[in-house]
Formats: sequence, C-alpha cells, structure tokens
Amino acid sequence: MSDSVTPTSAVVNEALTVMGGGLVGSLLALYLARHGHTVDVFERREDLRRSGLVEARSINLALSDRGWRALEGVGIADAVRQVAIPMHQRIMHDARGQLTAQPYGQHNQAIYSVSRAGLNRTLLDLVEQEPRVRLHFNQQCRRVDLRTRTLELLHTETGVTQTRTYEHLFGTDGAFSAVRGAMQKTERFNFSQHYLDYGYKELTIEAGPAGEWRLEKHALHIWPRGQYMMIALPNLDGSFNCTLFFPYEGPASFSSLQTPEQVRAFFQEVFADALPLMPNLEQEFFENPTSSLVTIRCYPWSMADEVVLLGDASHAIVPFYGQGMNAGFEDCTILDSLLQEFGPDWGAVFREFQQRRKPNTDAMADLAVYNFEEMRDRVADPRFLLQKKIESK
Ligand code: FAD
Repeated sequence: MSDSVTPTSAVVNEALTVMGGGLVGSLLALYLARHGHTVDVFERREDLRRSGLVEARSINLALSDRGWRALEGVGIADAVRQVAIPMHQRIMHDARGQLTAQPYGQHNQAIYSVSRAGLNRTLLDLVEQEPRVRLHFNQQCRRVDLRTRTLELLHTETGVTQTRTYEHLFGTDGAFSAVRGAMQKTERFNFSQHYLDYGYKELTIEAGPAGEWRLEKHALHIWPRGQYMMIALPNLDGSFNCTLFFPYEGPASFSSLQTPEQVRAFFQEVFADALPLMPNLEQEFFENPTSSLVTIRCYPWSMADEVVLLGDASHAIVPFYGQGMNAGFEDCTILDSLLQEFGPDWGAVFREFQQRRKPNTDAMADLAVYNFEEMRDRVADPRFLLQKKIESK
C-alpha cells in the first residue's frame, strides 16, 4: 500500500530559502516544494551521498509515530520502512547479564531503528527529484543580516564568500543555528541553553560471523547502572550501534578512564555481557569523540513573514525520549497543515506555527530530561510493572 500524499495548496510560487539540509531541512524542502514553491537549500557539509566517506556504520535514531506521520505526508514512509528495524520492546541487561523486557506497546506496536545517514540520504534523493528544489552543498551560513534580508555564505571548499538576499528564510541549521544566532541579537528574544553534566560516546557491538545479531534484534537494549547507562540499537548488518551516556567527571566518568586497561576493566565490571561483543572497544573509546548533551529553548521562533526556525534550531532536546528528530519532523507536518489553512500568508503561518508548537516542544524537552533518570535507573527497579524476565542463554 502506498502512503497518502498531502495535496498541494499553492496559489503562488515563491522563492524560499532553507538554511540546513539535515533531516528536518530536507523534509521541509519536500513539503514546501509540494506546495508549489521554489526552494533553495544551503547545507554546510558536502553532499553525503557523493562524499567518499561511506560510513562503515551509522548512528541510529528511534523513529516513532510523529516521525512516520510526517514521512507519510510526502509519501516516503514505505521507502523508509524497508530499511527500518522495528523494536517492540526494551530489554534491560543487569550487571550479572540477566535480562528483563518491557514491551513498548500492544499489538506489535514498536519504535523503529533507522540510520541517520541513510534517512538523510533517502530524503536528499527525493528532494533532488523535485524540479523546484535546488540543493547547494558546502555552503556555510556565516552571517544573517535580518535588516537587509541578506545571507553571507562561505563555500567551504573554495573559500569564496557570496552574499544573497532572501524573501522568506527557514532556519533548519540545527542546535547551533546561525539563523537563530542572528535572531538572538534582536530585542526581546528569549534564549537558554543547558548542558547536562553527562556526555555520550558511540561504540559498536559487532555482528556475528555470519552477519547475525548477537542480541535480540527487535529491541532497544539498555544497561541501566544508576548514574549512567549504555544503550544499543540494531543495524541492518547485524551489528548494534551503542551509546554510552556517562558523566564527564567523577569516580566512574570519562575523566576517570584514561587508559585502554582501565576501559576494559571497567566494562568487565559493569557491562560484562556486552564486553565480549565489542572487540574494538578500546580503540573506539579513545578515537570516537565525546559529545555533549544540550537543551536549547528560545522564543519567538519567527520574525514577521521573513524568518522562521524549525527542528533543533528552535528546540534542541536531550536524546532520552528519542523525540528530537520526530519533533522536528512533526514541525514540518504542522507547517504543512498551516499552509493548507492560510495559503502562503507567511506572517500568519509563522505566527500560528510558533504558538501551536512551543508548548509541545517545551513539554518534550522536560520529558526528555526526566526520561534519562528513568532509563539509567528506574527501569532497573525490580518493582517496575510489566517487566518480564528473559531466560539467559
Ligand atoms: P541537524 O540534524 O543538526 O541538521 C542541521 C543541518 O544544518 C546539518 O546538516 C548541518 O550540517 C547544517 N548546518 C549547521 N550549521 C549550518 C550553517 N551555518 N550553514 C549551513 N548549514 C548548516 N531524535 C529522535 O527523534 N530519535 C532518536 O533516537 C534520537 N537519538 C539521538 C541520539 C543522540 C546521541 C543525539 C545527539 C540526538 C538524537 N536525536 C534523536 C535528536 C536528533 O538527532 C535531532 O533532533 C535531529 O537531528 C534534528 O534535526 P535538524 O535537521 O533540526 O538538525
């Protein structure tokens, strides 16, 4: 069965500028083009479909209902479903390697593990098929002059800078948005950012010799350890993408593990059942970056009919609810419905958009922080309802 596609409602073809061709920016470009507009997308990175950097493994994200609905709206959910792995339950690994499971829902309900890079590539392929969208890679926005509606763009390969004007600018350039940076200098713009005392590091559980999954494939795995945790999401190639959420400082922290021996001894003690499945642990631990976790809130998200922020640019949240991308995709669904309601009355669309979305994304930000405690600690509580013991092999 094919996905339903939102009917287009364009009465005017306007030239629109999308800054940032990540997950939200590329989906947004599709929606805007389907409304009949001409769209220029500027992306700082090179085209990840053509770069020689084919990732051996990609970082995975949990795609859930909000995200699926947004993909259905442009008719691409079926294509993504082909490369998504349903996770029907979360499986907790205790320190002795005993497993318990909690279903995510009923009747086969699931969240889905998808490759971030794969999803972005699929979206860019679809964007490229839209005659009304022009993609510009290696273009880093260095400055936005909100008064003259001018962008300064640096070509990251040639070093050449160009200036361009815009009529309507959509800032989808992520948590450290240059578009938002310009808005932050305007009067009565509220902004806050809050970093957790925790960072994260990507690690890998390898596939078995025949490419088989060495843990239950249809599950999100969690090693809850009170003050920290590791999680693992399945990849299509039999491996799992693991993320260690760990304090920066303290007795068990990134700063306390300084040598390969210390890392191995620590994993032996606290993640003993995972360790044999992680042959490149020490190398990955020291080569992969330690990244920070931030919540960003701001308001307003728009300026008249000129600029609007979507996705992480307006509401970056910590990943423990698995909703950052899903919420950014939902931004596109809501903007789409407002375009159907108001047509290209951008001032009205942007105003309604921020008013409808802000309370929801604020709630999501709070839930995401709360869910960290839940995942790293409370899911290990034996009194937890609905837990089911799994026989260890
Ligand atoms: P980004 O993905 O950050 O894209 C922004 C784009 O803009 C990038 O392509 C960037 O190169 C480009 N850009 C930036 N600056 C400029 C500039 N100056 N000029 C031009 N281009 C620029 N969400 C989920 O829903 N489920 C999950 O399971 C999940 N897990 C996560 C796990 C981790 C560890 C983290 C950190 C996040 C997770 N998220 C998850 C959140 C998700 O990654 C983000 O919410 C999502 O990527 C936001 O998409 P975006 O397009 O708004 O921003």
